[in-house]
Amino acid sequence: MSIYEAVIGLEVHVQLKTKSKIFCGCPANFGADPNTQICPVCCGYPGVLPVVNRAVVEGLVRSALALDCRINKHSVFARKQYFYPDLPKNYQISQYELPLAENGHLQVKVDEQSRDIRIHRIHLEEDAGKLLHAIGSRPLDYSLVDLNRTGVPLMEIVSEPDLRTPEEAAAYLSHLRAVLRYVGVSDCDMEKGSMRCDANVSIRPSGAQGLGTKTEVKNMNSFRSVREAIAYEIDRQTLVLDSGGRIVQETRLWDAQNNVTQSMRSKEEAHDYRYFPDPDLVPLNLSDQYLEELQKSLPELPEARSARYVEKFGLSSYDASVLTAEKKLADFYEEGLKGFEGKMQKEAAKPLANWLTTELLGRLHAAKKEIEESLVSPESLAALVALVYKGAVSGKSAKVVFDEMFVNGGEPAAIVNQKGLGQIDDEKQISEWVDEIILVNDKAVQDIKSGKTSAMGALVGGVMRKSKGRANPQIVNRILHKKFSQ
Ligand code: ADP
Ligand code: MG
Ligand code: ZN
Repeated sequence: MSIYEAVIGLEVHVQLKTKSKIFCGCPANFGADPNTQICPVCCGYPGVLPVVNRAVVEGLVRSALALDCRINKHSVFARKQYFYPDLPKNYQISQYELPLAENGHLQVKVDEQSRDIRIHRIHLEEDAGKLLHAIGSRPLDYSLVDLNRTGVPLMEIVSEPDLRTPEEAAAYLSHLRAVLRYVGVSDCDMEKGSMRCDANVSIRPSGAQGLGTKTEVKNMNSFRSVREAIAYEIDRQTLVLDSGGRIVQETRLWDAQNNVTQSMRSKEEAHDYRYFPDPDLVPLNLSDQYLEELQKSLPELPEARSARYVEKFGLSSYDASVLTAEKKLADFYEEGLKGFEGKMQKEAAKPLANWLTTELLGRLHAAKKEIEESLVSPESLAALVALVYKGAVSGKSAKVVFDEMFVNGGEPAAIVNQKGLGQIDDEKQISEWVDEIILVNDKAVQDIKSGKTSAMGALVGGVMRKSKGRANPQIVNRILHKKFSQ
């Protein structure tokens, strides 16, 4: 065991999904031609006045309420000054001393162990533009500036340094994404950049109280890189300390190609930015009534939904947490459950959960598809579960029906008919098969007669094979037992 423990705090930027930017009316969506979604306000021309977008404030407040934060009814925008070619105003509008929200919580689960991670603060800020570097071009290297992204609304969610392992950090991010997607404020897609994460990492002797010197790691664009970058950084710092060195406070970049972090710059201090309240923007003052309305607008969140599944449907907490991890998956599940009435609902809950999480999700995953692309609808999956429950089709045939539904869609009952997969309940037919199997299985018959009832399985298996899996196994069993008790 290592004599060090890691201390990790995450700064997560999430792009709020609003129609327009944070301080002007330009569209906030990605993908347009460079510099086509800009105006004097987001380009920072002198003399313009920013006006805050109400939907942005609403998105942050709803997120913060879902994350159990205290909302500051009075908050203030501040200017963070630095020079960079993607920042035309030479300052970024952010929040500093009085952020919109503070003191939140997020439960993080690793290996069924739950821990409470405190959220330090959540504040609003605007995004900067994007530089496109044409390195190696002639006669000189040059860079192009695209300002479409300037003024796109972001919220920055800063955790306390409560995370201890790379796995916990990844679990925090994934749960944060789940909550924000439930609230509907962002896609939180790391690959597309609508969720970005900087990881602050330090190590200290196990059990120590104080904090070690940290480095800040940037440039991870997947959950996996976050995990790998933090693990690398912990190992690197351990090596430095073990060889008698000191950790330098700095910003490091994750290099996903070579799986290493590399020093980018020594870390600036907050006072370097010369923060001051933005004189062009009025402070935000939120009323109790406004906050209450937003609180009421929140959907049921993953934990509550998962607890409800355990309580009401009798699912295991594992199944419940898999189903509720994504809102669209939980919605699919509940849509399917609607196909069952009253008491039946509880009976169907578990098999429907199984078909959904193992069969459907498994096949979708292999086909690299999302659940909204599934040709199997909640209704048709429920109908298949009902057919199996009623004994109209065997478990084995149901898989064949499911395959057909997955590839071509369609209703299970129709597929059962069309493929001749229905279960056979005809006692006369089954009795004939039983007789045939008894005739050709002397050994098993002798065993059963001498008291080895376990040999019955071989006969049942024989009948099932003979019927191509379609004989009703309960009837097969009953007829066999009757023949031997005569
Ligand atoms: P800075 O001023 O350098 O940005 P902050 O105090 O604002 O530092 O913290 C930024 C992030 O770093 C937070 O998520 C915080 O939890 C985390 N953090 C602070 N100190 C440490 C530390 N010693 N080790 C790991 N993470 C830390
Ligand atoms: Mg910081
Ligand atoms: Zn604009």
